[in-house]
Amino acid sequence: MYKRIVIKLGTSVLTNGSKHLYRQGMIELVRQCSKLHKEGCELILCSSGAIAAGRETLEFPALEETVAERQMLAAVGQSRLMYTWETLFDIYDIHVGQMLLTRADVQDRQRFLNAQDALLELLKHRIVPVINENDAVATSEIKVGDNDNLSSLVTVLSEAELLVLLTDQPGLFTADPRIDPEAQLIPEVRTIDATLRELAGGSVSGLGIGGMATKLQAADIARRAGADVVIASGSVQDVITRIALGEAVGTRFPAIQNPLEQRKRWIFASSTPEGVLTVNNDSASRLREDENSLLPESVIGVNGNFHRGDSVIIRTEEGDEIARGIVRYDRSEMDRIKGRTSAQIDDILGYGSGPAVHQNDLILLFEDEQSWK
Ligand code: GLU
Repeated sequence: MYKRIVIKLGTSVLTNGSKHLYRQGMIELVRQCSKLHKEGCELILCSSGAIAAGRETLEFPALEETVAERQMLAAVGQSRLMYTWETLFDIYDIHVGQMLLTRADVQDRQRFLNAQDALLELLKHRIVPVINENDAVATSEIKVGDNDNLSSLVTVLSEAELLVLLTDQPGLFTADPRIDPEAQLIPEVRTIDATLRELAGGSVSGLGIGGMATKLQAADIARRAGADVVIASGSVQDVITRIALGEAVGTRFPAIQNPLEQRKRWIFASSTPEGVLTVNNDSASRLREDENSLLPESVIGVNGNFHRGDSVIIRTEEGDEIARGIVRYDRSEMDRIKGRTSAQIDDILGYGSGPAVHQNDLILLFEDEQSWK
């Protein structure tokens, strides 16, 4: 059985597709959690539903849905949501603890470690952390944006072994099951490739923000951090307990063989790429083989408006993403030194001749199990 489990509950699961929190369904989920808790599992809930609960509490006011109005709904709804979780877990004598995060809380390494300390302390005391985005104060610049990606960050934070993404769909299908009767459930995914991303791209579910596309992003982050991931329907009988026991329910993404080391997990999960460096094919193969730093002379194209210290995507000439990393030059500097040797860089910039991305900050993303690091 898995020991430390993150369970992401989407709005569609918590409302059962209605406009209200579906308490009957919530208590059933809590019952399953209490069973696992009793057996020694450490559980972390990543709960959506604040905005839906806010609408319910205020009796569905007619709003234009400006940012400020959504913040208001979240402020009202978050406390209602927590009250509901607290009441339900109380039945089983389990304490819950609220943590509200934004991207800004995890992007800085120090703040990430602080959040990690708090989370681990809750688990140490057998408390179930209930986590959501801090929607009442977060604006789009500092938001994670959806709870699928938030739950993968929480998986990295907590070093969990399993991430369960519960939704209103039984899992990932070969086509959209609502329009294509031939659509088949995919029981296991080992490689998240372009075809799969395209498949997931179109599906948007119910009231929440996260469709399948964000679930794939989350699954990719979590499996590279060493956690198994399962996407399943929240209404399947005993869904949480069965998945925790390793039963085949929904779509499973096994953790990769060689998970990223701690610091690289954090880089991959917490930072939004601000630009793209295109490298020539020779350098792409060399990066893959030697895992060396990326030198400016290998860069043939520069896009985006990034600054030194930002995260960037590294692509081949064909446009395939092969790595992510922290860039050491601003966009304007990269434009001037791309394709130039280290000796030339000093002359051009008058300083520096270091790599564009240092190997310690470089995360290789080849879709080939053997080379995943
Ligand atoms: N944080 C949002 C809420 O609580 C949900 C975002 C999401 O479901 O992805 O309403």
